[in-house]
Amino acid sequence: MRVRTRLGGIFYLLAWLLTWGFSAAPGGATSLGLSGTLFFALMLAARWLHRLPAQESRGCLEQWIDRHWRLIHATCLGWGLAHAWALWSAAFEPSRMIATLGTVAFSTAMAFNFPMRKGRCVLAILLLYLPSLAVLAWQWPVQEALAVTLVFYLGYLLLALNRSHREYHATLEMEQQLLEQRERYDRLSRTDSLTQLGNRLQFNSLFPAMVANARRQGTPLSLVLLDIDFFKRINDQHGHSSGDACLSAFAERMRQVFRRDSDALLRLGGEEFGVLMPNTPLEEACALAEQFRRELATSGLELHGQRLPLTTSLGAGCFDPRLDQTAEAFFKRVDDALYRAKAEGRDRLALAT
Ligand code: GH3
Ligand code: MG
Ligand code: MG
Repeated sequence: MRVRTRLGGIFYLLAWLLTWGFSAAPGGATSLGLSGTLFFALMLAARWLHRLPAQESRGCLEQWIDRHWRLIHATCLGWGLAHAWALWSAAFEPSRMIATLGTVAFSTAMAFNFPMRKGRCVLAILLLYLPSLAVLAWQWPVQEALAVTLVFYLGYLLLALNRSHREYHATLEMEQQLLEQRERYDRLSRTDSLTQLGNRLQFNSLFPAMVANARRQGTPLSLVLLDIDFFKRINDQHGHSSGDACLSAFAERMRQVFRRDSDALLRLGGEEFGVLMPNTPLEEACALAEQFRRELATSGLELHGQRLPLTTSLGAGCFDPRLDQTAEAFFKRVDDALYRAKAEGRDRLALAT
């Protein structure tokens, strides 16, 4: 709306200057000429000065659009009256054609550039036409050819407006659908299809950002890494599809324990998982990690109505800007802890040193 109205105002001013300037005696109609010039100049300035609201809330934008339409309607009414005057006054006989061309051009531009709101656009076009049509009707049959032609053209414009209105909204809807689809694909590309947790790609973009945030704000960021113990055996004994079901159930169990909205739960690969916990000190992260380990060790996983014993090894650490120069260094510290948990006999939590 803002882009499309930026230039329009100039042409009303120009058309008025031409209509006045080429009238029989412009010098004899100075006050009318200058008032018209002032009016269209003011309308032009108002359009330019009417800046978009700083706040992009729906209410603010609606209000802005309403006010902007009022400016457009005022300009259209101004031009409609100017054209009517040119048809009425004998002094404007030489420049009548210019005014008529102006009305045709402005209304055409209106129908094709402002089809977003049909009702308001129809009103704008009527404001351009009705004053001059009223004069022509009053003078009937002096300029009947012009009157009939203008009425036909008005009819065509209303039909054209109807079509551009539909096309505008169809395009808008298509753009919206494309955006939604892109968002959906973006989300899918960052989600692991088996467990519905974030995948490695998600981790790769999230982890450095969270580390940078923790460094900047000095807030604790904890990371827990989990690796299922002897998972190969599950596949070997129960089949690969049971292995898959086991991974899903494991992820579901993670969701039940690491419940905070800000926690990011991820499948980092195969049977390795991670939990990123912003604003969480090591003790809290450890308590949850240990709770997860203990519950899994005691109850295992429920698979096809059967209890499947399963344990996991975990490494946990909290980002420390003095120890961790980079996000990778932090990850390695926690990964080393996980490795230690494995080496020390599995089914345990080891803390990053
Ligand atoms: P460890 O305690 O040392 O971690 O032993 P592990 O058997 O869990 O570890 P290892 O790395 O030797 O084996 C991991 C296994 O996980 C091997 C692979 O077949 C299995 N695996 C990885 N991804 C998937 C998957 O998507 N589905 C299934 N069913 N199995 C998977
Ligand atoms: Mg592994
Ligand atoms: Mg494993």
